[in-house]
Order: sequence, then C-alpha cells, then structure tokens
Amino acid sequence: MTLFYDPRLLASTRRGFLGAAAGGLAAAAMVRPARAQAVATKAKIVILGAGAGGTGLANTLAGRLDGAEITIVDGRKQHLYQPGFTLIASGLKPASYSVSPTGDWLPKQVKWVEEYAANIDPEAQTVTTTGGTKLAYDYLVLAPGLTLNWDAVEGFDLGMVGKDGIGAVYAGPDHAAATWTAMDAFTDKGGVALFGRPATEMKCAGAPLKYTFITDDYLRRKGTRDRSQIIYAANNKALFSVPVVNEKLKLLFRDKAVDVRWDHVLKGIDVATKTATYVIPATQTIKDGAIVDTPAREEKIGFDFINVIPPMTAPKVVRESGLSWADKWVGEGWIEVDQSNLRHLRYPNIFGVGDINGVPKGKTAASVKWHIPVVVDHLVASIQGKEGTEVFNGYTSCPMITKIGRAMLIEFDYKDNLVPSFPGVIAPLEELWISWLMKETALKPTYNAMLRGKA
Ligand SMILES: Cc1cc2nc3c(=O)[nH]c(=O)nc-3n(C[C@H](O)[C@H](O)[C@H](O)COP(=O)(O)OP(=O)(O)OC[C@H]3O[C@@H](n4cnc5c(N)ncnc54)[C@H](O)[C@@H]3O)c2cc1C
Repeated sequence: MTLFYDPRLLASTRRGFLGAAAGGLAAAAMVRPARAQAVATKAKIVILGAGAGGTGLANTLAGRLDGAEITIVDGRKQHLYQPGFTLIASGLKPASYSVSPTGDWLPKQVKWVEEYAANIDPEAQTVTTTGGTKLAYDYLVLAPGLTLNWDAVEGFDLGMVGKDGIGAVYAGPDHAAATWTAMDAFTDKGGVALFGRPATEMKCAGAPLKYTFITDDYLRRKGTRDRSQIIYAANNKALFSVPVVNEKLKLLFRDKAVDVRWDHVLKGIDVATKTATYVIPATQTIKDGAIVDTPAREEKIGFDFINVIPPMTAPKVVRESGLSWADKWVGEGWIEVDQSNLRHLRYPNIFGVGDINGVPKGKTAASVKWHIPVVVDHLVASIQGKEGTEVFNGYTSCPMITKIGRAMLIEFDYKDNLVPSFPGVIAPLEELWISWLMKETALKPTYNAMLRGKA
C-alpha cells in the first residue's frame, strides 16, 4: 500500500521537495492510479457528510460511475481543514487558512442537499433530512465525522474560549484563533498549563500532545518556562497507543519536564477559581497477595491556561440508527464495519468512511485517504455483482510537532507496525525539520488532492 505522503514529494533533493511543496505542487505530484473505465449504473447512492471523507468519496465515485444518482447530505456550508487548527492555535496561520466553501469541492454530477440527516432507516433504505426530505438509497456511505460533546465538560462554554486562559483547539478555526490569543498571553507570563485528552475515542489523538509541546516551546522562547508548570493529564497509563511511540513521547516529556498525571480525565472547570476537576477511575491492585480496591476519586488542579478537549461520540443520527457496535465502544456509537473493507457487517449496502468507523485505529485525514479507495472498490464491485479486493490495513499518520520547526512523522497500522512513507529518508521517531514541513506545508495540498479524488 502506498502511504499518505507521496515519496515523489521529496523529489531527489530536499530543495526539490521544497520547491514542489511551497509552490503548491505537492498535490499535482500525488500518485494517480490508472483510471478504470466508468461503470454504467442507475444506482442511487447517498453519502452523509461532505467533510474530508464524504467529499473525497463523492469525487472519486463520480469518476468511477456513469449514470449513478449520487446525493451528498450536509448542512455545513463551510469545509473545514481540521489539521490546520493546531497551526492556527499556534499563531502560525490565520483562521481563514482552514475554511473554504463546501460547494467548491463537490463535483457537478453530485446533488448536494444542504441539510443534515435526521434519521437513517437501514431496513427501508432511506435517509430523512432535518427538512423532512426522504432520500431512498441502494447504497449508503456514512461519513458524518464525529460529535464534540462540549456540554459534557462541566462549567465550560465555548463562549469562554480566548479569555481567562481558556483554549479549545478542536472547536473550529475561530476558536483555535481565540486559543492562540489565550496561549500567547499565558506564555508571556508563565504559570500552570493543563493539557490532556478525553477517555473516548478521538480524532487525531496526537493533537493534544502536539499542543503541549508547542506551548512548552513558546514558554522557552519567551523565557518564562522556568516559572511555569506543564501538566499533561493522560486518560489511562499511556501517552500514545503505539508502544514504541509511547516510550519516545515519555522520554521527550521527561526531558522537557512535562508533569504527566496518569488516569486523569477532565470532568469540568471552574472559571471563577481557575480550577479543573479530574476524575481518577477506581482501580484494583494486588498487594501482599490480597486484592486492594481503590474507589474512583476526584482531584482539583488550578490553572493559568487549559486546552479543553471534550469526549467524542458518533453523531446522534448514527447512534440512533441501529448501525453502531452493540458490544464495543458502548455509548460512543461508532459503526459496526469490517475493519479491512469498511463495509457494514449487518447491512452490506452500507459503508463507512472516516472518523465514524468502529475500527481499532485511525480517526485521521490520513486514514480517510485510504478508506476512500477501499470503499470505492467494494461499492463499485457490488454494483457489478462482484466482490471487491482492496484491503485497508489500518494506516494512519500523526505529524507529531515537538517544537516550532521540528516534528516526528509517525505512521502506523492496525498492528502498531511503523510504516514510514519515506523509509531510509525520514526516521519516524526523530525530531526533524523535514517532518515539520510535511505538517506545515505539504499536508494541506495532499489533503486537497484527496478531496478532489486525485489522491
Ligand atoms: C485539531 C485537529 C487536528 C488534526 N490534525 C490532523 C493531522 O495532523 N493529520 C490528520 O490526518 N488528521 C488530523 N485531524 C483529523 C481529521 O481532520 C479528521 O480525522 C478528518 O477530518 C475526518 O474526516 P471525516 O470525513 O470523517 O469527518 P469531517 O471531516 O469532520 O467531516 C464530517 C462532515 O459531516 C457533516 N455532518 C455531521 N453530522 C451530519 C449529519 N447528521 N448529516 C449530514 N452531515 C453531517 C459535518 O458537517 C462535516 O462536514 C485533526 C483534527 C483536529 C480537530
């Protein structure tokens, strides 16, 4: 499997890479598989969500099918390039960097219903929109991303972001820009900064760590690190799910004097007292041969800056559809798909692309890039009365920024194998300038090529 980044981006020299990437040519350099002849069909295909996955899929399907009735449902008028939020919240890009009109990305052959899906009936094969329109389908692709459950963080309100040391990088481009205002003010003076992640599955699990590193870097650059304390609240006993990466991150946090609190999940904040409350789950340990039960408890930590990241679940319409796993990720609602072809296990005419999939890894745009050809292969084969052959190996990637100008380009699969796009050239666990450029410069044209169905 070719990976997220095209080795041709590097050209033969670093200079060649830079020229291509900086000129926005990275997208043009993406590998294009030879186009199969379009398949004639009258199939009705409904796609829910016009984000990274839905848009890339709509463009790819439009090129593979001739005569299909493809409808995409999404009430959001703006497409959001979410990997840009971290750069916006770091003062490196304006909020506009991540925003473009949804309609600009959609192919002419695809009908865009500018409403949200309110109901999915997999037995009747219909989707009903918030405006009451009922759409019948032969195939349904779910790509509605995930829901950020801000209300689950007690005492927090999105209106607080940007003031009183409160940040929320995930909340959108404007909130990411407001987070930069708060982080910039905090790093001028120093103090206690709190970071962490929710206990649910989440998109881009590296982003909370990146923002911790970036804040540390600003404190050092401004000369305020020695009067500051950085605390990272890990939701369990690891910083990252891939063991070798976890060990590397623990070393980096130790070197940078980041104070890690294991098994700490943010419950709420009190803005008046600038205090965050964490829940530490109940534990059972064995001491001197006897089982010792320690009940769940709460801990309060004062802060001068906090990056709030809420629990994440599948959108309500999916959680209520009967398409979620019943015995995995209970309460989170990720859909029950075969992890190798992303096809629903009970409804074979339903597929998932992107964050909505109930698979062990990879709520990233990098995974989306490889969800799309796999789903297209199996969906088009099904239209032809055949079985698809493409397999998704769980590929995902995380450009782990460790300071401004340095990153580790970490790519891995379901089995926690490191699968570098540039073996022998970019070492995944080294903090490199070239890996920083992958995030800062090359990722967006790569993402845009994916949206256009050209990746
Ligand atoms: C701060 C941050 C940093 C990130 N950094 C990276 C990174 O460095 N690298 C990387 O690969 N990934 C990164 N990601 C993750 C990446 O952006 C997502 O994994 C990716 O966008 C998922 O694509 P998707 O299509 O599943 O969902 P999205 O792109 O979120 O799109 C979902 C779409 O569905 C729509 N929708 C929602 N509900 C409904 C409904 N009921 N009916 C119809 N439509 C609906 C929404 O309006 C939206 O347009 C980052 C994300 C964040 C937040």
